[in-house]
Amino acid sequence: MRFVCIALLLIGGWGCSALPTRPLSLPGRYTVVREPLVVYSDFPIEPHHRLLDELVARRGDIRRVLDLPYSDERVHVYLFESTDRFNRFMRLYHPNMPSRRAFFLETDTRLLVYAQWGDRVAEDLRHEATHAYLHAVVPNLPLWLDEGLAEYFEVPRGYGGLNRENLAAVLARMERGECNPCLRRLERLVPTDDMSHDEYAEAWAWVHFLLHGGVGGDAVLRDYLADLRRDAAVEPLSHRLGLIVPSPEEALGHHVRQLAAITMLPTTQ
Ligand SMILES: [Zn+2]
Repeated sequence: MRFVCIALLLIGGWGCSALPTRPLSLPGRYTVVREPLVVYSDFPIEPHHRLLDELVARRGDIRRVLDLPYSDERVHVYLFESTDRFNRFMRLYHPNMPSRRAFFLETDTRLLVYAQWGDRVAEDLRHEATHAYLHAVVPNLPLWLDEGLAEYFEVPRGYGGLNRENLAAVLARMERGECNPCLRRLERLVPTDDMSHDEYAEAWAWVHFLLHGGVGGDAVLRDYLADLRRDAAVEPLSHRLGLIVPSPEEALGHHVRQLAAITMLPTTQ
């Protein structure tokens, strides 16, 4: 989940009269710096906690897979010790945001991640940190691609971006005849749209197809990102993909079914 260019009341002071007399503050008793991450919490975290090691390494993965440069821009990660505190904080300062376990926010000056410590904190932080790493070097990333890449890189390292939850969701909809993948439809989503779970899963599937479909989609994706770094007004990725794959939707369906067969998910075909 990402939110871009949201004015944050909480950064820089509590002077607003609308705020409560006892503000619910951000975590900050402890700070761990693992470039480019600055992690704030109210409970101690080992500087070389394996989760932080993985998050730092993930930046290198993104650089290698997508052929993107590093950025020196810091990513500020606020870790809430409980779901209750996280939810109270979000309700107070971001009441219009949908209910989620974690968020990435981009302001004019900072890249921010809010997350709650819990069973899925590793997945959540990999997802949100991916948004931050991407936004640091690729402006104007389309919503579907931003989320598709975050879903791809949220799985543990060594999984090759195989997000079983999304694979099962896309496959199940295909088998029921409900899924009609269409990259051009995803490309019409605007930054303020709230993507559905099915759209997240389909965005992941397109990214996985581009990177592992064996049709040259990886080069198309890397070239697209490189062009997007230079100019926001580039032609849609679907147009470029259509030049090398006659029927991208059909090819995606084949890729998903093949992936399901390899990973032993049940299919009807
Ligand atoms: Zn996201």
